[in-house]
This record gives sequence, structure tokens and C-alpha cells, in this order.
Amino acid sequence: MNCLKIKDLTVTVNNKTILDDFNLEIKSGEIHAIMGPNGTGKSTLTKVIMGDPNYKIIKGEIYFNDKKLNDLEVNERANLGIFLGMQMPMEIEGVTNADFLRTALRTKNKNFKLYSFIKELDTVVEKLKMNKDMIHRGINEGFSGGERKKNEILQMYILKPSVVMLDEIDSGLDVDSLKIVGNSVMDYYKEEKPAILLVTHYQRLLDYIKPDYVHIMNGGKIIKSGDASLVPKIEEEGYDKITETSTSVIEENK
Ligand code: ADP
Ligand code: MG
Repeated sequence: MNCLKIKDLTVTVNNKTILDDFNLEIKSGEIHAIMGPNGTGKSTLTKVIMGDPNYKIIKGEIYFNDKKLNDLEVNERANLGIFLGMQMPMEIEGVTNADFLRTALRTKNKNFKLYSFIKELDTVVEKLKMNKDMIHRGINEGFSGGERKKNEILQMYILKPSVVMLDEIDSGLDVDSLKIVGNSVMDYYKEEKPAILLVTHYQRLLDYIKPDYVHIMNGGKIIKSGDASLVPKIEEEGYDKITETSTSVIEENK
């Protein structure tokens, strides 16, 4: 069984502490949703797990199984099976989606077969209801916000990660696309049983992707954990109220 483990992690950016003694463990087959007010470090968490060099680890460790990830490059982490669907996927001109995915797969997989790659690409593009020509366009070049999010899911399907992090994958999606993306992530989950870390603000995504655990993050750490029933409470009461009661919750959990 695979396991992503974050232990006592403190992270700074420009000398500002963003993650503060952060702890979390996600096993394969588990879906964890992280929610919390803007600017609390949710995206930072996903980026630091992926190895973004802008974020400095002051203390703590990130493990994938027994392997410590702290000093590994992004590509090394990706080859281990860690994947991040980003909040704001970048446009990369001049490298087509197909080229990018083919190269990534060839590096990862010695038994790469071009025919099955093309076949799978076609199947997933169809499943996600993307335009076929998107495969041969530059990565996210001229893609709308929603199309970019679908493109992240396409990458997930092709690269077959065992740790899937999706940062606000629902933002920018219309209702139909939200359904397609949500169901596609769930299908992938059933097929591959990855460990999933979802960052979201809304119940609407969790109607499709059912989390086993919901964590509320504030001030760079998890202040409350529960099951999916926490989500409607957040939508009803807002984060402020939950933040107010957080100290007692942490005490209770000790
Ligand atoms: P969230 O995803 O929870 O909304 P982020 O992780 O994106 O929050 O950001 C947490 C805090 O860290 C914010 O105050 C943000 O401005 C700051 N931050 C994140 N990345 C950078 C960066 N590269 N440079 C400066 N500040 C950053
Ligand atoms: Mg964010």
C-alpha cells in the first residue's frame, strides 16, 4: 500500500511562514479534501509536495512510502507517481500536449508502446469531451479555464499517478464539465486506487468525488478534521465560526 506522509512540515516563502508544523497522512484508496479560507497555504501544500523550488522547507519531512522526498526534483517526484493538477495551469507554447505526454511516459515507462498511448489518449479525450485537436495544440495554449482543468485530468489519466493532488479542479468549470471531471476522477480512483488530496471550496465537487476525510486548514495547519458531514456545516456557518471553535477542537482531539 502506498502512503504519502507529511510530518511536522514548516515551509516559508520570502521568509514568511506559510505551512506551520503541518501533519497529514494519506494512504492509497483514501480521498482527503482540504478546505479553508483563501491564503491559508492550501496551494502551497500541494506545490511543496510536488517540489516547487520557490518554497523553502525549514523543518519536517515529506515521505512517499519509505522514500523521503524533501530533496528530490519535481521530475523525480513525478516519476515516483506524484501528480499535481494545478489551480492555475500554465500555458506552454511550442510543446504539444501529445509530445509532452509521450515524452513523460517514455521517461517513466521502459515498455512504452506508441499505439496503446495514442489509443488511450483518444479514449480519455472522448471521455472528457475535449476537442480532439487539443491533443496537438501547445499545452493549454489558448485553452479556457475549464479546458485547462480538463487537460490536467487528461494528464492524470495518461500518467497514472499513485498520489493525485487536485487544487481547485472545480474552478472555472461549467456544470456539465464539473460532472464530467468529477466522474472521471472517481472512475480513475476506482481503477487505480490512488491516494487523493483534493483542495476545494465547494460541496459541488464533493457531490461527485466523495472524500473519506475533510480537513479544514487555517494559518498553515489543519485545525479541524472530520468526515464529509463537515462540508455542509462549513457552507452554512462559514470558516469564521469554525476557526473560533478550533482551539477547543484541537484540545478535544488530543
Ligand atoms: P491558498 O491556496 O490556501 O489560498 P496559498 O498557498 O496560495 O493559499 O498562499 C498562502 C500564502 O502564501 C498567501 O499569503 C500567498 O500570498 C503566499 N504565497 C504563496 N506563494 C507565494 C510566492 N511564490 N511568493 C510570495 N508569497 C506567496
Ligand atoms: Mg490556492
